Amino acid sequence: MPRKSAHHPPVPPSHAAHAVAEWFRHAARDLPWRTSPRDPYRSLVSEFMLQQTQVARVVPYFERFLRRFPTIRSLALADQADVLSLWSGLGYYRRARFLHDAARAVLERHGGIIPRDPDQLARLPGLGRYTAGAVASIVFGLRAPIVDGNVARVLLRLHGVRTPRDDGLRLAWGLADDLVNAAAEHDVPALNEGLMELGATVCTPRSPSCGSCPLAGLCLARSLGITGLIPEPKLPPARATITAVCVVIRDRRGRLLLEQRPDRGLWAGLWQVPTLESAPAAKARPPSAPKALRGLGLEGLTVSRRSAFSHATSHRDVRFVVLHADAPPDRPSRLTITPDGHPATARAWLTPARARALALSNPQRSIIEDAAGLTSSTSSLSRARRRAGPSSSR
Ligand code: SF4
Repeated sequence: MPRKSAHHPPVPPSHAAHAVAEWFRHAARDLPWRTSPRDPYRSLVSEFMLQQTQVARVVPYFERFLRRFPTIRSLALADQADVLSLWSGLGYYRRARFLHDAARAVLERHGGIIPRDPDQLARLPGLGRYTAGAVASIVFGLRAPIVDGNVARVLLRLHGVRTPRDDGLRLAWGLADDLVNAAAEHDVPALNEGLMELGATVCTPRSPSCGSCPLAGLCLARSLGITGLIPEPKLPPARATITAVCVVIRDRRGRLLLEQRPDRGLWAGLWQVPTLESAPAAKARPPSAPKALRGLGLEGLTVSRRSAFSHATSHRDVRFVVLHADAPPDRPSRLTITPDGHPATARAWLTPARARALALSNPQRSIIEDAAGLTSSTSSLSRARRRAGPSSSR
């Protein structure tokens, strides 16, 4: 059951709404999607990119994305591989696929015009109630509430509500609805964007800066000294370990063998060197090199161990073991056939430059960069040897 202070008067929503909107008008950070007036396409892209990702990390990706896809039409007509490639390194690639699908749906269903109505927005692929509310209120000024983790924290602290997280989110939607309906019409966009900004910059999870908060005079958590108890601490998620044996193979022309992951699951649709993964488990051991080569259809190659490193995703720890091999001189094309049971959807020999331009997860990018460095130093060595002629061998 939520616990709420019985001895304090309720927070008047119209005062709180006006205080947040006024504060936001002078405290807003200067960000590339905050144009005046707001542009629905820029707002949509920024909302997808900002899910689970910090503003500072999003800004360069946002600018590059907008240079390549300046309009929703250009995004809708793009190849998904190009969209994923520009998203490469930002993580949570499902967002890129959803954004692309949403752009296509806007073109097909709404003639390329992003709808104003929150219900129509929420029916676009990948837009939940939060993103639909953000676009409808911030861009179009409609009275739609928004709640994400940051906004929920501000509202639950403002009202002094201690409750388990799931109940907290549900309650926060009701509180956000009260605020947006009590706000003066011209305050609605600044109220919603201000709540997000306040949660990100002032009412932070640990050590909120109450002294510079526009809600300080109204905030029950502050007056009761319980800001540190709201929201209630979350139990850390159970983490599983995956092992991934990656085989870097170069042919005689310095090209690398790459494969594309299936379009569901971890790093869906991204490219990688041939990689065999274990199922998630509390503890997992990497398969032996012969077993990995068999599973990848690469039997007969001679491999050497290059490196090993770990990478943490939101729910898993992935332990990478990197092996290097040279392609056999005969029929390297046979290696482009993926064996039965291996989930990769396609394989191809690619130059390091083309490999780098693909959508890659961060760990695979570092494996490929390492291999590309070796390839270029090997090719410059062979070029130097060719230039120097027979004397170089002495
Ligand atoms: S006064 Fe402090 S706890 Fe309350 S909303 Fe502001 S920053 Fe958060």
